[in-house]
Amino acid sequence: MAKVPFLTKEKAEDIIKAFPTPFHIYDEKGIRENARRLKQAFAWNKGFKEYFAVKATPTPAILQILKEEGCGTDCSSYAELLMSQRCGFGHPDIMFSSNDTPEEEFRFAKEVGAIINLDDITHIDMLQKACGIPETICCRYNPGGTFSISTTIMDNPGDAKYGMTREQIRDAFLQLKALGAKHFGIHSFLASNTVSNEYYPTLAKILFRLAVELQQETGVHISFINLSGGVGVPYTPDKEPNDIMVIGQGVKEAFEEILVPAGMGDVSIYTELGRFMLAPYGHLVTTAIHEKHIYKEYIGVDACAANLMRPAMYGAYHHITVLGKENAPCDHVYDVTGSLCENNDKFAIDRALPQIDKGDILVIHDTGAHGFAMGYNYNGRLHSAELLLREDGSVIEIRRAETVEDYFATLEGFWHCLG
Ligand SMILES: *Cc1c(COP(=O)(O)O)cnc(C)c1O
Repeated sequence: MAKVPFLTKEKAEDIIKAFPTPFHIYDEKGIRENARRLKQAFAWNKGFKEYFAVKATPTPAILQILKEEGCGTDCSSYAELLMSQRCGFGHPDIMFSSNDTPEEEFRFAKEVGAIINLDDITHIDMLQKACGIPETICCRYNPGGTFSISTTIMDNPGDAKYGMTREQIRDAFLQLKALGAKHFGIHSFLASNTVSNEYYPTLAKILFRLAVELQQETGVHISFINLSGGVGVPYTPDKEPNDIMVIGQGVKEAFEEILVPAGMGDVSIYTELGRFMLAPYGHLVTTAIHEKHIYKEYIGVDACAANLMRPAMYGAYHHITVLGKENAPCDHVYDVTGSLCENNDKFAIDRALPQIDKGDILVIHDTGAHGFAMGYNYNGRLHSAELLLREDGSVIEIRRAETVEDYFATLEGFWHCLG
């Protein structure tokens, strides 16, 4: 699938007059249409709800759009819970799927009305002491071993730090039941960024069978199954995107095959998607400020890995479009670099692109999730602004760029010491 930016060169030039590069920009129309498709794909399930994984894009304007589309939030830290609360989310619209959780965060999660998803059996004790066991509770499952779709190994749950073993989740349900829990959920996240319509249906079968067994073994009422995140997006243009309607249908078939005959047709399906909800609807927009010819050809841009860590951290591919040169031949080979004193600060390596001239505007695609969110301050580089392209074509700033004063703010006390 050709990757087409949601900005033209003219539009980008217009935006840059008010907001200099680099910036992240999100496409409201794309976000809303995609959220509606997801809802439609699971409309067969009465209690279906998407809890957007806040860590993917922790930006209130984005959470607000998703709220209007009927989504809740999935949090794993105090700050994410607080942001959700300030955006007006409450019970039952917040999921707290954390791990290695500090006691005070359990307390705060209960206070904001979040559904607590326990990562470990020993957390029952901690939660009981911190604030008591809520009536609705969820446990995270880790089946161990490897996770395969037909014959392809997708991931390695046996090596993952998350979740409880099969024996532990049964014991956890029994303990929680004895402590007064009434409505139970099961959660599992077994593979990340899957570009396959089979991931959710395969995971659903595992969790639906587990749910039937656990209900029989423990007598608890299982009210929801949380398929979590992991439905991915094609970062490279050669891959076909997931078809969410096919995915929803696959989960429905598993539901009718396993849960309905067990008398569990009232179970709600939850998701905690991050990447699928946002990645394609964000661009990192940056300007070429240098060309350098040494042993290779380099284009230096005004963004760096501190604005988008995935290429440096995972070697991830992010497609690049040079605005205004969409149809020009890709007859040059470049490394596209940022300014960090780190040789892995490269948005692209040996990438065939049209000739790039200083001042050209580059769109780095699929940065709407795990993009801005993973930003950091190495080399004194600052977080960029975030902008929203609204449905009516107007652009608003939804987070201003960080300033050096923001960066120095935690040093205030020390400046005073220096007198
Ligand atoms: C990261 C995460 C998600 C979202 O994952 P995506 O790959 O962005 O869909 C959902 N749930 C939990 C618990 C996570 O840690």
